[in-house]
Amino acid sequence: MPAFQTSPGTRDILAPESARWRRLVSVFADVVEGAGFGQIIPPMFEDLGVFLRLGEATEVVTKEMYDFEDKGGRRIALRPEMTAGVVRAFVQHRPVTPWKAWYAGPNFRYEKAQQGRYRQFDQVGVEVLGVDDPHLDAEVIALAWAFYARLGLTRVTLLVNSLGEPDDRARYVDALRAYFTERAADLSPESRQTLERNPLRVLDSKREQDRVIVGGAPTIASFYSSAASEHFTRVLAALDRLSVPYEVRPSLVRGLDYYRKTTFEFVGGALDSSQNAVGGGGRYDGLAEDLGGPATPGVGFALGVDRTLLECDAEGVFAAEDGAVSVFVVDVSGGLEALSLVADLRAAGVSADRAYEQRSMKSQMKAADRSGARFALIVGEDELRAGTVVVRQLVGRIGDDRTQSVVPRSEVVPTIKRALQS
Ligand code: AMP
Repeated sequence: MPAFQTSPGTRDILAPESARWRRLVSVFADVVEGAGFGQIIPPMFEDLGVFLRLGEATEVVTKEMYDFEDKGGRRIALRPEMTAGVVRAFVQHRPVTPWKAWYAGPNFRYEKAQQGRYRQFDQVGVEVLGVDDPHLDAEVIALAWAFYARLGLTRVTLLVNSLGEPDDRARYVDALRAYFTERAADLSPESRQTLERNPLRVLDSKREQDRVIVGGAPTIASFYSSAASEHFTRVLAALDRLSVPYEVRPSLVRGLDYYRKTTFEFVGGALDSSQNAVGGGGRYDGLAEDLGGPATPGVGFALGVDRTLLECDAEGVFAAEDGAVSVFVVDVSGGLEALSLVADLRAAGVSADRAYEQRSMKSQMKAADRSGARFALIVGEDELRAGTVVVRQLVGRIGDDRTQSVVPRSEVVPTIKRALQS
């Protein structure tokens, strides 16, 4: 075993998976840029205080933060999610509203690593600052929905809920705390602990022992103010109008404290229930103010790249594509022809690779076959003298009947370009 390996919860994403990764981001960019979003590339670490706004009682803050003191004595944290940093950027730069930003990149959480749960994981997402309109909530949700559809996913379910206004939520939390405290003796020890920190999170418990108690808990709907209730009704009506199917899930409270009103989650139908949340989001109307800015409504979502790709694998869609070059050059005349041929091909926009170290014909042809290239260009002493190149078709051939032709060196690039187009 080598002396060093990736640290737990981190992975190397190698080709061709890395190309699929990039394609996913590019499909996402296409969808959201078509809706007027511009990309933000925020730093990967920020002042710890930015992230404390996620809620002192959330696990992301209490247990999972990668925080440290830098050499200048600042308290710094690697970002555990993107929303807080994006809202910090909004407050810092004060762009014109509505401000529509999208992002892609890694986040860091010290979690128990397992399949679909990593310590460094990527998200793509959007945030809109400055608009309270419930139609925007629906539009944002519909963007994620359109993105999943573009990947070919058909088994993702949308769960939606509303957490009401902060006062509604506070009254609900009190009622929940009273309800669970009365039944604490029958709750699992883990849920009893969660109850002390944040009664809302007890609703997330998937433990068998908690099931009946959680099932009978009061639901948020009876605590909505009329404004919150109307906002939610209009979000749902807009989703209906957009034909985005959803399920209202009153127990959906999500992990982070800053959410209010609309919250939603996308669940992958082909994934194991312990990590089937492929994405989620909601409204966070108080966050900009919390971060020292003007009171500004906000709504957005983050989709887990790793889990979305796991869902793609499980559904058999958006497969990795092989990254084969178009042409492979085999040169047994010393290597200089290969050097200039690949340079000419690449300059003409044709992807090309070659063998090195003056290997034998047999070994170079093997490398050509392995490369997945459509054509091999072969140069030996005879071709070098005659100023020609042998063009041999590699893939797409029938049986062993390989078609090949001899082409003047000066004609190779145009000949290959024509052949690739056919
Ligand atoms: P959250 O910021 O916790 O709402 O997460 C949003 C999405 O990011 C989730 O739905 C997951 O798809 C993904 N995600 C969150 N934490 C992890 C993790 N530790 N590993 C992989 N994906 C994650």
